Amino acid sequence: MAKTTAPLSNSPEVGKPVLINPREQLFASMVWRQAGLSRRDLHERTGTHPTLTGHAVTNLIDIGLLREGAVPPTNARGRPQVPLEVDPDRRTFIGLAIAPGGVRGIRANALGRPRGEEVAVVSKTKQNPIASAAALLKRLLDPTVFAVGVSITGLALPREAKVLFSSALAATESVSVRPIYAAADETPVVLHNDMHALSLKWLMTNDNTDGDVLLVGVEDGRLGASLLLGGRPHGGVVGGANELGHTRLAVETAPCYCGQQGCLERIVSTEQLSRFGLRSSRSLDAVLANPKSDRRAAERVLNLLANGIANAVNFIRPQRLIVASPLVRHPIVSETLSNALPPLFLPGLRERVSVRLWEQSNVQSAENAAWLALAEVFGRPPATME
Ligand SMILES: [Zn+2]
Repeated sequence: MAKTTAPLSNSPEVGKPVLINPREQLFASMVWRQAGLSRRDLHERTGTHPTLTGHAVTNLIDIGLLREGAVPPTNARGRPQVPLEVDPDRRTFIGLAIAPGGVRGIRANALGRPRGEEVAVVSKTKQNPIASAAALLKRLLDPTVFAVGVSITGLALPREAKVLFSSALAATESVSVRPIYAAADETPVVLHNDMHALSLKWLMTNDNTDGDVLLVGVEDGRLGASLLLGGRPHGGVVGGANELGHTRLAVETAPCYCGQQGCLERIVSTEQLSRFGLRSSRSLDAVLANPKSDRRAAERVLNLLANGIANAVNFIRPQRLIVASPLVRHPIVSETLSNALPPLFLPGLRERVSVRLWEQSNVQSAENAAWLALAEVFGRPPATME
């Protein structure tokens, strides 16, 4: 398999690697959104010279990202246009998710569909998960891999190849992720926060993504957010993900790994249910599935969650709020959030913020991490290209 011939840099100093050039990314993203576009369509819609369009498409086909589809029979005069589509067969994208408890890895095709099962490596206590991630990456690599997406909970600084802090790390000091870059060798690595990965997946798999979006991911003991401005993830000071999980409310909780108490992600947890007088020894998920005698404790958690999210909405004033969680499949969650959230928005915002609950089965997933890499190829390129 030919390696990409485009400029390619995997030095962490540049923040993220350049996988294909901006023109190629523009075309790749257009074909991703609309399979069947021809070279002529790309030329006409972007004003790019036909020769340059042809070169870019040839390169995208040569490196295994696009392929030519079957030419439809046509009655029109002139040469039939060859439809282009994303090639789901030739290239692999690896997703690695570093989260509390372990590292998960998966191989996906260029459409983001998993190829084979997710591989999970459980971290032993105090073990550095970066070393486990590097070892798992070596197992998953092969010559078809085009790029690797690595997600981690907490605050990642790709430019410095560092993780500042993360619930996945035993220590509160920053940790280098260079072993992952070393394991990848020449294969490009895109490192980011797990919520950023989730927001890229949302952007690339939904049609209507305009406006400013606050995306909040919620799991048992884990909560984060990502901000999308004008259909693109917010670059932000340190990577565009909001540490909404460490917004604090005046509630007694277990100490958070950030060093504080009352953090929203400590509140939405099995542990906090116990503090609120759980009558049975069940997990948050089990209680929400069938609250029974624990309804009061469950509602208390959910109302605090609604408060935390509403504070962020009032602060940011997005047009859209998306709550992504496996927990929203439970009626008590969807009903409590749908009822509790709007009254907590500022009066002028109630009618303007659309709220959507997205049942997203695994916020800390390797599949989501693969979208970090996919977005560098098939995601919308910088606005200046359009
Ligand atoms: Zn915290």
